[in-house]
Amino acid sequence: MIVTRFAPSPTGFMHIGNLRTALYSYLLAKSQGGKFILRIEDTDQVRLVEGATDVIINTLAQTGIDYDEGPGVGGEHGPYVQSQRLSIYKEYAEKLVKSGHAYYCFCTPERLESLKDDKGIGGYDGHCRNLSQDEIQQNLAEGKPFVIRQRMPDEGSTSYVDEVYGEVSIDNSELRDQIMIKADGFPTYNFCHVVDDHLMGVTHVVRGNEYLTSTPKYCLLYDAFGWERPHYVHLPLLMGKDADGNVSKLSKRHGAVSFQDLVNDGYLPEAIVNYIALLGWAPKDTQEFFTMDELKANFGMDGLSKSPAVFDYEKLRWFNAEYIKRLSEEEYNAKALPILDALCPDSVNKVKLAALLHTRISAFCEISDQVQFVVNRLGMTADLYTNKKNKTTPELCRTILEETLPLLEAVEDWNNDCLFAVLKQYAADTERKAGAVMWAVRIAVARQGITPGGATELMEVFGKEESIARIRLAISELSA
Ligand code: GLU
Repeated sequence: MIVTRFAPSPTGFMHIGNLRTALYSYLLAKSQGGKFILRIEDTDQVRLVEGATDVIINTLAQTGIDYDEGPGVGGEHGPYVQSQRLSIYKEYAEKLVKSGHAYYCFCTPERLESLKDDKGIGGYDGHCRNLSQDEIQQNLAEGKPFVIRQRMPDEGSTSYVDEVYGEVSIDNSELRDQIMIKADGFPTYNFCHVVDDHLMGVTHVVRGNEYLTSTPKYCLLYDAFGWERPHYVHLPLLMGKDADGNVSKLSKRHGAVSFQDLVNDGYLPEAIVNYIALLGWAPKDTQEFFTMDELKANFGMDGLSKSPAVFDYEKLRWFNAEYIKRLSEEEYNAKALPILDALCPDSVNKVKLAALLHTRISAFCEISDQVQFVVNRLGMTADLYTNKKNKTTPELCRTILEETLPLLEAVEDWNNDCLFAVLKQYAADTERKAGAVMWAVRIAVARQGITPGGATELMEVFGKEESIARIRLAISELSA
């Protein structure tokens, strides 16, 4: 059975690239009836951010990436938080010391510093590789701090076949004797993730390609323990489009890059998941919309690409607009009404306004801009009243407004149907084009040219008092 995992470090928000890694790892397992594990990699205590684990867990919950084993869920391989597994790493590190694949290193920070060149670059020189048992015992007896290092082979090369990138090979002479256990007893990522992946039965390691070239070192650890190596699936970088048309690693200057920021901007988790599923994976046919179940059924490693994927905010917007259109009225209102409540005066009919906006927004953050004409009486010029198709001029509009004002004031049931009937009747009685009448009233009420709805729909949204006030204002402006 396929077992995959997502192994984030709780260092802050959930970057979209991390979410894509989680999603692909999850889909790889689920597409083949396998198991998906969440493991929290918190051994780099300096980089820990309070609350970050909750962000990870909440993001997975909101996106429907449910794990079979992990924090809060449990499982036979727990604990799933690395800081709770320190004794395990120590035990396994000692095994490698015994077998000669690792050794104690007592070098002081000062000595290591002295190995660096002017640029601060410099590796370990293997100083403690061959200490005698006596020297080691004496150092320990003196209480000297030590780290445990992995002993890299002096000769030969190490290679593995990545499922996406193909064969990766490195000369062992280029590999440094990396630290496995630090002086404070905490393991390094380089060591403990290997121990965990093995003990947790992980068969496929899915992660970002920044680990592509360090993976030979991890392979050597598997070999040293005599464990079977897992399959490796490294994913290409996510890029963003720069202003100059080039692309670079997706970062804040391209736009929101965390899941939570995208959600705060009004993107729906379903749309985000659907979009990022396609950022590096191509379905067999031209289908673009996928529910999570459809993704599980269709995902496969053969669709993975090694070319960097470019995050396109326009495309995400397009997906989001489609997902918003597909929301039921109830689901949509649950998101739109709180935003409108916060923005609009009490007199505004928010349910109607929300309905007018439903097919017109591609993200909920656009609502604020879209309703500025409702919140404020915008400044405007008389040329908005001129419309070729309806043959309107500011003069004609002024007449229409003056004549319809008393009719509108007399309306008791202030709703779209009644208002529409009144204006229709007026047009018929005066032998004016209905389009011209609607144009005059719509511009007077909205005070802008493009509106999410017609004259009578907008008047229903504004309510009687504000609609009449705006028509009066328009008449006085047109008379000036
Ligand atoms: N904790 C590592 C990270 O967040 C995990 C890498 C891996 O999946 O092995 O980058």
